[in-house]
Amino acid sequence: MEVKTIGVVGAGTMGAGIAQVAARAGFQVILRDVAENFVARGLGAIKKNLDRDVQKNRLSAQDAQEIMERISGTVNLTDLAGCDFIIEAIIEQMPLKKELYKQLDEICPPHTIFASNTSGLSITEMAAATKRPAQFIGMHFFNPVPVMKLVEIIKAAETNQETLETTKDLTTRLGKEYILVNESPLFAVNRILVPMLNEAMFVLMEGVASAQDIDKGMMLGANHPIGPLALCDLIGLDVMLMVTETLYQETGDSKYRPCPLLRKMVRAGHLGRKTGRGFYVYNQ
Ligand code: NAD
Repeated sequence: MEVKTIGVVGAGTMGAGIAQVAARAGFQVILRDVAENFVARGLGAIKKNLDRDVQKNRLSAQDAQEIMERISGTVNLTDLAGCDFIIEAIIEQMPLKKELYKQLDEICPPHTIFASNTSGLSITEMAAATKRPAQFIGMHFFNPVPVMKLVEIIKAAETNQETLETTKDLTTRLGKEYILVNESPLFAVNRILVPMLNEAMFVLMEGVASAQDIDKGMMLGANHPIGPLALCDLIGLDVMLMVTETLYQETGDSKYRPCPLLRKMVRAGHLGRKTGRGFYVYNQ
């Protein structure tokens, strides 16, 4: 199927980034959020990014304007009725996602494909809330979307081949690379990354090395662009605890148990950069 119009639901960090990338690739985009101010904030973030690209001579002012003109913001879900492909990036809560998909299923024509950008919820469970589980897939973008090259394409239990092929083609047209993943907790990248970050916290908790030396070790010894503990501070320790818990609960495997130090820091309100203190102290 040839995709012409893309609906993006949720105009937050990820939704705005996805809308920007899609419009820049030449697609018509309809960006939907629940309130006007959220839509405006998303459109504002996109404009700011494009303006920066113009200033740095990475984009002409004319092109930036045309990209903005291809995106229309809305609070009405029914405006998504004409979309061939809908990418959902609303908050990470299963009941809200299911409710949204039930409504979209009523509104959209049978050919429309639904893709969720969830970080770790079951695509199969969301698909089961609709009458089109074969046209349901996971498209996991990485933050910041305009910069990060990867999309994990996640096949749910009922995803059909045509949906997969359309999604692969769309991802390429968005200028991204993809990897194929069969649905599994945290998919592939975070399934590998999160236990590594958790292990770095155990190494700190056990007094094996200092935070600075753990980060220096992984940057200089494993060529990571950022140390694991600094990365945890960037992600947010509350988010880290939530995703580690998901992996642990979904698999029941003790090797994924969250580090007690992580739990303690979250309880103390030391969540990383966003609170000014995590494994490091930040000037706010
Ligand atoms: P965010 O909080 O920045 O944005 C979520 C937006 O969704 C908000 O603007 C909110 O108003 C809106 N929203 C809530 N319910 C809605 C509804 N029913 N209809 C339309 N809009 C609705 O969140 P985010 O960081 O952009 O994350 C969005 C999704 O992407 C989540 O599923 C998250 O797990 C996933 N994700 C996030 C990251 C990341 O690094 N932030 C990376 C990959 C995937």
